[in-house]
Amino acid sequence: MTAIAFVGLGNMGGPMAANLVAAGHDVTGFDLVSEALEKAAGAGVRVAGSAAEAVAEADVVITMLPSGRHLITAYQGATDSTGGGLLAAARPGTLFLDCSTVDVADARTANTAAVEAGHRAMDAPVSGGVAGAQGGTLTFMVGAEEADLATAEPLLNVMGGKVVHCGGPGGGQAAKICNNMVLGASMLAVSEAFVLGERLGLTHQALYDVMSTASGQCWSLTSYCPVPGPVPTSPANNDYKPGFAAALMAKDLGLAANALEQTGVDALIGSHAAEIYRAFADSLDGEPRDFSAIVESVRERSGQ
Ligand code: NAD
Repeated sequence: MTAIAFVGLGNMGGPMAANLVAAGHDVTGFDLVSEALEKAAGAGVRVAGSAAEAVAEADVVITMLPSGRHLITAYQGATDSTGGGLLAAARPGTLFLDCSTVDVADARTANTAAVEAGHRAMDAPVSGGVAGAQGGTLTFMVGAEEADLATAEPLLNVMGGKVVHCGGPGGGQAAKICNNMVLGASMLAVSEAFVLGERLGLTHQALYDVMSTASGQCWSLTSYCPVPGPVPTSPANNDYKPGFAAALMAKDLGLAANALEQTGVDALIGSHAAEIYRAFADSLDGEPRDFSAIVESVRERSGQ
């Protein structure tokens, strides 16, 4: 079995690592937060004392970190309490598989640093949320050389249900950013429709029953409905506890906005969604809130 180091055992990384253990892999994990480590240990992950210690004997290093800054610090930073030093501590030829959502430029920087340090590297961000991580049904969007994807594929198939090869390094992140630009915009559109429906005297259920079988149908409605009731598993029924935090959606839309600027693409809706989610995330002042709670800010702005 492959010796795996898993760095970043949060909402997504924790259950992904647990699924690898359940499939019989030897997984050594590290996180900066002791609560995450305890939870992972409960799922059978062997806990290391530092990020560098976690990767020392690994064949594959999987990272699931909040942002590009965290990724680059983990790869190249000092081997201290900031959780850095992965590239220096791993054996030459280790495969570095990053599943975090980061900027395309950061993904390519991290990839180049890994290759220059004598390793193999690929990006494989995911879609499917915490439920997909728990159920092993994530979709992986892969930016990799063919040979590296072949090595990683058995592990990706444990953690996910679909693997799409999007091109060379950075290709996975490019696809992820495009997808999440649609997700942010569609969640806003669905939320605005529900608030308009409320004003016009429609029940949530009636509007859901129409839109879910009409041309307004989309994932933000049928899997992640932003109002309580119609989709019992959506965070709206759990006081908007994440799920997928508004701060992470603001981050992803910010990555899309950077890419729009760099490429000169004039995407009015994507840019506006980035601004709206940034303002919403800032207004939460660190409170963990699901991105579908944006419906509350639409109501607030509408004087409801
Ligand atoms: P999270 O904040 O729950 O987990 C990230 C973990 O990384 C934290 O526990 C943090 O302590 C740890 N960490 C940070 N730096 C570290 C370091 N140097 N060494 C070890 N651990 C370190 O976030 P999450 O929801 O699990 O998301 C992780 C990534 O997955 C993000 O890039 C996010 O955009 C992406 N993502 C999340 C979802 C979702 O629904 N939550 C869906 C798709 C993609």
